[in-house]
Amino acid sequence: MAHKFVDNYREKGARKKLVDKLKERGIQDKSVLDAIGKVPRHYFFDETFWPQAYKDIAFPIGDGQTISQPYTVAYQSELLHIKKGDKVLEIGTGSGYQTCILLELGATVYTIERQENLYNRTKLVLPHIGYHANFYCGDGSKGISEQAPYDKIIVTAGAPFVPEILLKQLKIGGILVIPVGDEKSQKMLTVLRVSETDFEKFELDTFRFVPLVGDQAW
Ligand code: SAM
Repeated sequence: MAHKFVDNYREKGARKKLVDKLKERGIQDKSVLDAIGKVPRHYFFDETFWPQAYKDIAFPIGDGQTISQPYTVAYQSELLHIKKGDKVLEIGTGSGYQTCILLELGATVYTIERQENLYNRTKLVLPHIGYHANFYCGDGSKGISEQAPYDKIIVTAGAPFVPEILLKQLKIGGILVIPVGDEKSQKMLTVLRVSETDFEKFELDTFRFVPLVGDQAW
């Protein structure tokens, strides 16, 4: 692999500053901050762009997609309240950065990406840098029913509505975190499954994600 995976003092220092910035922006969960402090985000960038890796910005990763902004990754991760051993479905693998954060939090991760190029790349890179998830290629707007139910589901692309089929794949007591809105902006929603038939929905801050494209989406 041509890519260099070295984590020098420069990158470590930049990562610590990023964690401080996320704290200032309101991220409080220590386990999430620790995970951000551990995962070398520059590994997901071409070496030319390493100076960008620890800025709190989204960045293009090819195929018209982006690695999510660290604040957004931390925000969604905090809402999931991950406990060690939680079975988590991630919809929109992208670069795999969010996947690594979920793994650092102790989750067992099932992650699905619809773009074959990204799926192929991330499935190779993550084990190479020490992160082991279960990778799927396909339309995640329908979830992955054969692996359900999940303790937590995270959607990392903007959906037009909450797909019913995802709610059915949550355990009772499980949480779905999903940005819902139009192409320009989405509200972060968390949905808690309180019983077989009952769900509690909470609407939070506004974000801008690339669209969730699929059968139960755009
Ligand atoms: N969490 C990722 C990261 O840390 O790099 C960023 C994800 S990016 C903002 C959203 C991803 O969702 C894109 O890679 C896109 O191809 C993918 N996506 C969009 N619709 C999808 C679908 N129906 N199923 C699976 N992946 C989808």
